[in-house]
Amino acid sequence: MQTALVTRWNLVRLLRLELAVAAALVVSVVLPMAWLDAAPVVCWIKRIYGVPCPGCGMTHAWVATGHGDFAAAFEANAFGAMLFVAAAVWLLLRMNPRGHAVLRAASSPRLRWPAWVLFGTWLAYSAVRAMTQLSA
Ligand SMILES: [Zn+2]
Repeated sequence: MQTALVTRWNLVRLLRLELAVAAALVVSVVLPMAWLDAAPVVCWIKRIYGVPCPGCGMTHAWVATGHGDFAAAFEANAFGAMLFVAAAVWLLLRMNPRGHAVLRAASSPRLRWPAWVLFGTWLAYSAVRAMTQLSA
């Protein structure tokens, strides 16, 4: 009985994640770039310290990617377009029963090092970007 509840809870939690990713992808495609450009800065790190955090520019990058403007996406955050594509591929694999095997294979502990290398590269990029803006 408890196992069924846990399974149902995991299913609801996973569906919420899938719906959130799908909503973020759809919003990125339909949100006008001009509306986003006119929006105020919401990042408290940037507002207080004047430097971008690792996530700064992700919304612009996702919306630019959603509109096919990869140059603007790269300029906003070099990892934004990559994350957008990864989210779209993950969602497609989650929606396809045959994709579940691909996701299981990709989550193997042997294959985690590329994700850590990518994560470290993102942090290094963010540190360099912040320092560049501090000295400017
Ligand atoms: Zn930020």
